[in-house]
Amino acid sequence: MEFETWWLVLIPLIFSLGWMAARLEKRSDASVRGQLPASYFKGVNFLLSEQPDKAIDAFLEVAAIDTHTVELHFALANLFRKKGEIDRAIRVHQFLTTREQITPADREKATYELGVDFLRAGILDRAEQAFTSLSGSNMKAEASRQLLELYELEKAWDKAIAQAHKLREYGADVPAGDIAHFYCELAAQFIDAGDLLKAKAELQNALLTDAQNVRASLLLGDIYFTQHQFDEAIGQWRAAERQNPWYLPLVGPNMWAAFKKLERDEEGIAALLEYCTMYPSIDLLLVLAQAVEETKGPFAAFELLREQVRARPSLLGLDKLLEHQLRGKLDDDRMQDLRLTRELISKHTQRLGRYRCQSCGFQAKKFYWQCPGCANWDSIVPRRAEELDFYPVSAKKAAPVVTNSPAKIQANI
Ligand SMILES: [Zn+2]
Repeated sequence: MEFETWWLVLIPLIFSLGWMAARLEKRSDASVRGQLPASYFKGVNFLLSEQPDKAIDAFLEVAAIDTHTVELHFALANLFRKKGEIDRAIRVHQFLTTREQITPADREKATYELGVDFLRAGILDRAEQAFTSLSGSNMKAEASRQLLELYELEKAWDKAIAQAHKLREYGADVPAGDIAHFYCELAAQFIDAGDLLKAKAELQNALLTDAQNVRASLLLGDIYFTQHQFDEAIGQWRAAERQNPWYLPLVGPNMWAAFKKLERDEEGIAALLEYCTMYPSIDLLLVLAQAVEETKGPFAAFELLREQVRARPSLLGLDKLLEHQLRGKLDDDRMQDLRLTRELISKHTQRLGRYRCQSCGFQAKKFYWQCPGCANWDSIVPRRAEELDFYPVSAKKAAPVVTNSPAKIQANI
């Protein structure tokens, strides 16, 4: 272990606390007076000679005979934790929780800090035990906040929901949007288990908690779709527009599939066209192009793409346009050149086609409701990185963007 500056901060603290403790000892117990400074110096010596475990032993020895050094031990344990030496922090905090002389408030604090140590070390059951034991204490709100984080990590969504409500009772702020996502996560678990009835009930809870939670409407639509209730599915997905239309790219493919099942292709294309016009997105455009190709043929789809890429230029759009142009063409020299151009653009667009968190900048190929980087909910909006660079949007509710009139696009379909 290197000699680091933080020990220089610690040592004067040790001396001052030692001095105070020794003064108190002088007044109370003459027999202890001689031992106290010796243990401090021993501890400091071990720290300076880079033997932290022996230093801990020396300081614990001091604590065993003195009730005024608790703060010293909290400081020592926190410094170990900051250095990433969690096992040493655990040792010191554990020692404090077992001391008989400690005040109830300090024991609660030591238990809480021990829970944080276990959480950092990934020993989740022990962390849960420590925080749960504080439920009736003055630290119940802080412990409850940690439990919520722990249950999110464990994906124990029913427990997370209970904890979030408890935190709100304690007066803490837990966003309704976060709680609605917990219900959606729970519903997704029920969907995976095939229990669609329970899943629907949890999604209703999500909407009761936060009427703007677009994910609940999306999942409800998916459930209706799997149950072949296509009209109901479309109704749920259409609700997403009222809640937050920036998320419409997530419903595009399924919505088109539902319209096709109902054999209402024209209506489906009109809906996608309206969304593409009001809330432009490369993903929505590709679904629309697919729908147009399936109903009106590849030439109409190509014309649509070309018009849209001209109106809202992007490399992602150009890549798709070239893909259409190359489709089914013979490999003459001119096509070879075009193919090479497309390959170069495709390499570039792989990076541009990622989703990006608006809180921490985390990027991923897959869409996440909760950012894996910063654990924020709804901080990733389903827009590709290139779109966000050129046409910024916020994860908050969108205002319609009118770039092309539906009539103008219609003319090219
Ligand atoms: Zn993030």
